[in-house]
Amino acid sequence: MSRVKDLLMKVFSALCNYIIFFVIISFVITCTFLLSFNMVDLPEADVRVFAPIAFHNIFILAALFFVIDTVRRKITVDRPVKEIQAGLKKLMNGDFSARIEVPAHTHNKFGKIADSINLLAEELSGVETLRTDFIANVSHELKTPLAVMQNYGTILQQPELSEKKRMEYAKSITDACRRLASLITNILKLNKLENQQIFPTAREFELNEQLCECLLQFEDVWEKKGIDIETDIEEDVVINSDAEMLELAWNNLLSNAFKFTESDGTVSVSLSADDNYATIKISDTGCGMSPEVGAHIFEKFYQGDTSHSTQGNGLGLALVKRVVDIMQGEINVESILGKGTTFTVKIRRN
Ligand code: ADP
Repeated sequence: MSRVKDLLMKVFSALCNYIIFFVIISFVITCTFLLSFNMVDLPEADVRVFAPIAFHNIFILAALFFVIDTVRRKITVDRPVKEIQAGLKKLMNGDFSARIEVPAHTHNKFGKIADSINLLAEELSGVETLRTDFIANVSHELKTPLAVMQNYGTILQQPELSEKKRMEYAKSITDACRRLASLITNILKLNKLENQQIFPTAREFELNEQLCECLLQFEDVWEKKGIDIETDIEEDVVINSDAEMLELAWNNLLSNAFKFTESDGTVSVSLSADDNYATIKISDTGCGMSPEVGAHIFEKFYQGDTSHSTQGNGLGLALVKRVVDIMQGEINVESILGKGTTFTVKIRRN
């Protein structure tokens, strides 16, 4: 009841305001008329008759125009504003699929605002998909080694287990721990690189030496797998760049080359340079990849070759790409399925 009363009071006060407004406007216009008639010497009796009629007509006309303008505003302003408000409310509640459609006849005024909001919604829904995909991928990658640890940990508690089996299971748990640690390290590094929390700190160093040192870290692997190494590394290639970030890139590319190359294969590393750029090629004669796989390899958590999935987490090339982008360099891949792969990285020397 009190709400109805409130509403009636509001309507009444609005009407009073409008009526006062019309009375003032009508009075002013009537006075203006009368003044101009005074100038053309109209008899006073006529003016007395004319004044109330003019006032009355002007009042009616003003009210009529007010009604027409209110209807026009309702259609061309209030309606699209309501649509925009409703759309924004949906976005605020997390529904990024919401789109605003303003009526065609109001398109000039509000169309641009609606288009911008729709574009923002599209961006937000893309970010949301990335976020949920990322959480799903991380959870999946975390669950696998955790399940391994839980299972082998339970088996290890059996007292009748032979020493050999005990060692085997303990090794599986250590491997799972290592995978977990590597996953977390990679996520943290990628996160820092993407959020630009790591700033490249450039210093002069010999790229040829760095490549050789990185390669030598894989000596155990290539000896164990019987992989041949070929190098064509130009001497004295001094560059001014972030050595730590580049080392991360070389290690990931080399680790993939050794991982995807079977025994008796070859891994080649070459370095050439001109005045401005250094070009590094890391090739292998491994399993290669199809163009479909090649199109996704720089995406986070993408693993094309599932036979080696336990040895990685699909973050290596995403990290490499981010590093190369930060260095304003270029990375390209050429690969033939069953024949091998070549990654070419081009970076500025300064
Ligand atoms: P991971 O090696 O952990 O799977 P990466 O991001 O390093 O993740 O690589 C993504 C995918 O790219 C791999 O799963 C594989 O399919 C493909 N790939 C990368 N390097 C090579 C390579 N040298 N030879 C063949 N495939 C490769």
